[in-house]
Amino acid sequence: MSSTVLEKATANGQAPFDVMALRNDFPILRREVHGKPLVYLDNAATSQTPQQVIDVFSDYYSRYNANIHRGLHTLADEATVAYEGTRQRVKAFLNAEEARQIIFTRGTTEAINLVAQSWGRTHLAAGDEVLISLLEHHSNIVPWQLLAAERGFTIKVIPVDETGALDMAAYRALLSERTKLVAVNHVSNALGTINPVKEMAALAHQHGAVILIDGAQAVPHQKVDVQAIDADFYAFSGHKVYGPTGVGVLYGKQALLEAMPPWQGGGEMIKTVSFDVGTTFADIPHKFEAGTPAIAEVIALDRALEWVEGIGVAAIGEWEGVLLEHATQGVKRIDGLRILGTAPHKAGVLSFVVDGAHSQDIGLLIDQLGVAIRTGNHCAQPLLQHFGVDATCRASFAAYNTLEEVDVFIAALNRVIGMVR
Ligand code: PLP
Repeated sequence: MSSTVLEKATANGQAPFDVMALRNDFPILRREVHGKPLVYLDNAATSQTPQQVIDVFSDYYSRYNANIHRGLHTLADEATVAYEGTRQRVKAFLNAEEARQIIFTRGTTEAINLVAQSWGRTHLAAGDEVLISLLEHHSNIVPWQLLAAERGFTIKVIPVDETGALDMAAYRALLSERTKLVAVNHVSNALGTINPVKEMAALAHQHGAVILIDGAQAVPHQKVDVQAIDADFYAFSGHKVYGPTGVGVLYGKQALLEAMPPWQGGGEMIKTVSFDVGTTFADIPHKFEAGTPAIAEVIALDRALEWVEGIGVAAIGEWEGVLLEHATQGVKRIDGLRILGTAPHKAGVLSFVVDGAHSQDIGLLIDQLGVAIRTGNHCAQPLLQHFGVDATCRASFAAYNTLEEVDVFIAALNRVIGMVR
């Protein structure tokens, strides 16, 4: 769809695709919760899974369940072809240079830990600095804290302004020849802020630093081009992009990955093993994929990305923007409600607190009305502390959400607030 057609459709409050038809792909959206139709607005935690992806599991286990790479029989070959097919799909999806730069992990968390344990352990030492943004999910903080305790480098935090946008002047000022790594998310899961990662990468590179981008919340909502961003490392999770849990991706620049040591040892990641002359390691990506991977999950990720591409990730992002705007207008009418995260560039995440009503109570009561939102610290405790709260309510949108669902959410929220205040 051309961008003008898209703009017109979304300006009229209409999705640029057939939302009702697309909802049919999701059996879970037909269920009821506490006798009410489910309104699922916890997509930033995990998105729902289309039937096409669910079907991969029964197809794989009933037709070609076999371990990959090492078998010569037909089933092993079919499983290997399907598994490696996903690598090709992800390469194209992220516009990576080569498929071997795509490493399958259990998720974003494991991808970041892989970089910390392999690249970090060999490149970071006392005197070095790692810049981490205040917007980070714990999974892009704690692996670096664990390593800092071992290696003695310093972690510095890139602050945010009152809207939840990164303070780019502060970022520039923090960068120095001591900076070895910038670890930042592309989109904040807690506030929805979209970070200027391309600009941040260019600045990091000017100082000779490497940039790792946590793309867990970006990949489902916007076209990501790792070459255009000039990302050194880019990570995402399958379950946030209509795929299954247990699978994620780490993209890395080839020269970096080739120079990095393995982080886990075992089968699949070796060339030769010997007690006498030592062990040699496989080339990338296999060097980083020790043991039997989540074969069915990886194949299912292929189907999920195919599903997303069938709709168009840009169109999905546009529609979520319409839903976000509608929801934002709705909650703004509620007395004593404060939205956290009002940056000009925002993905479909609406985080808020309400005077006189604890987020936990709102979350529990609104669930009774069939509406699933997330309440808590969103694995971003430093960020919430900065805003002076210990929890927020968060509604987050996906391709299958409708304006009517947003209306149900707003009505339910009003009702719940009336009950607890
Ligand atoms: N980074 C961000 C921005 C996230 O939102 C999440 C999950 O909520 C993660 C990382 C961790 O992802 P996973 O638990 O799939 O490894």
